[in-house]
This record gives sequence, structure tokens and C-alpha cells, in this order.
Amino acid sequence: MILIRCPHCRELRAEDELVYGGEAGLIRPAESVDDVQWTDYLFMRANPKGMHCEQWCCSAGCGQWFEVMRDTVTHRITAVAKFQQLVAPSGEMT
Ligand SMILES: [Zn+2]
Repeated sequence: MILIRCPHCRELRAEDELVYGGEAGLIRPAESVDDVQWTDYLFMRANPKGMHCEQWCCSAGCGQWFEVMRDTVTHRITAVAKFQQLVAPSGEMT
């Protein structure tokens, strides 16, 4: 079971109290992109075996979205933050 402390309300929540929102950090392309680029944005996602930056929602609590750095193999969480504040294990901002 995945347990994540929401960075907004500070409550520790189990994964069934949260909603997984997929890969974090995606940037919507300009309207002028071609169909291939738009399709990539809509459907193509990283599926790493290892560390992954994800977005989650505290759906049973405050309803806020936040980012999580999680190992997809072990489910070990190394960082949780409000958007644009996540610091990767390397110390770099994501
Ligand atoms: Zn919350």
C-alpha cells in the first residue's frame, strides 16, 4: 500500500484516499503543433522502471493536487511537494 503525506493538508493518506493523475511536468504544446506532436502530448507517457515524477490528488481530504517522486518498482517515495516545488533526489528542481 502506498502512503503519501499531502503537502497541503499534511494528512497521511493511503492510496485509496488519493487519485493518481499520471506523469507530472507535462507542458501543453501551442495550438500550432502538428498532429504527431499533439498525439504525443495526449497519449505518450514515460513508463519508467524506477524513479518517476507523478501527480496525485488528495481526493478524500483537501482536494488539492501535488507532485510525488516515486520508485515504480519499490513504491518508495523520495519527495512530495506542491506543484513547482518538487526537488529531485539529485537536488535539481523538476
Ligand atoms: Zn490534502
